[in-house]
Amino acid sequence: MLERVDDGLVIRVTGGDVWVRIGPDLVVCSLRGRFRVKEKDLQVVAGDRVVVRRAPGSAALEKVHPRSSWLSRHADRERGSRLVVANVERLFVVASLGEPPPHPEFLNRVLAAAEWGHAPALVVLNKTDQGAPAEAAAFRAAYEAAGYTVMETSAVTGAGVDALAERVGSGVHVFVGESGVGKSSLVNRLDPDLGLVVGDVRERTGRGRHTTAYSQLFPFRDGYLADTPGMQTFRFPGDDPDEVAACFPEIARVEAACRFHPCSHTHEPGCAVKAEVDAGAIAASRYASYAEIVRDLRERAANKRW
Ligand code: GDP
Ligand code: ZN
Repeated sequence: MLERVDDGLVIRVTGGDVWVRIGPDLVVCSLRGRFRVKEKDLQVVAGDRVVVRRAPGSAALEKVHPRSSWLSRHADRERGSRLVVANVERLFVVASLGEPPPHPEFLNRVLAAAEWGHAPALVVLNKTDQGAPAEAAAFRAAYEAAGYTVMETSAVTGAGVDALAERVGSGVHVFVGESGVGKSSLVNRLDPDLGLVVGDVRERTGRGRHTTAYSQLFPFRDGYLADTPGMQTFRFPGDDPDEVAACFPEIARVEAACRFHPCSHTHEPGCAVKAEVDAGAIAASRYASYAEIVRDLRERAANKRW
């Protein structure tokens, strides 16, 4: 084979190896040469579209194409944000009734990170076979008020799974959620041939085990499904507290009516956002998450100055 240069899609990144789908081939590129030096800046991740140069016995990444959307999270160790998956067509943010119960702070940070990375998100409430309908309705109300579609599923009974499958078209479709909510179970329901490992929820803590260490794409119909690493925590990827409001659609919609500009929507008089929260039009749990992210970013900035 002569040397050739092709476009490809990154399926997964493990250690120093980047697995790239090029047509029918799966090519393993190692992060060497000039990419080795800048491995951390490069941050190549599943979903990235890349250019690969192949010669007999070797394959090297030449370039990562600009991303149309992405999901990333703050990582202290890297002093910045870490990509989870790139070029996201749709992000399914999964929560569950039963164990583990929904943690709005976690979900809201993921949803805000999705907005930050221009990734269209919707909310999936799984394990509906385990919870009371009233619980599901209360959950649904907060996210629908924010403008998100909420889908209810059970990976055990199969309820809602067809409707979920209808939302999967071409491109990369990502499942994100706390460990144990049923991401792998849902993906297996969509395509039983995938046979992803389903973790036992540990009895003592009620937390699922880490069953996946990295994001990985699986072909599904015209597109791809992506399983993401088990996450117990998730922190907003940005640095700028002023960017957070734009990542909460229901806050962004009303903030023009605040008396002060800019308004942080925390202590200022005449704040239209707080008025909406008081009136119940913006869910208190959503607003609390907004305020918590702003606080977190301010603390991070204060720590950096030292
Ligand atoms: P992941 O960590 O989010 O990938 O979650 P898993 O798919 O590994 O599922 C964690 C546990 O929840 C497993 O014991 C599953 O059998 C169970 N589980 C997943 N989906 C459902 C569901 O819809 N209903 C019930 N009752 N259990 C589920
Ligand atoms: Zn305000």
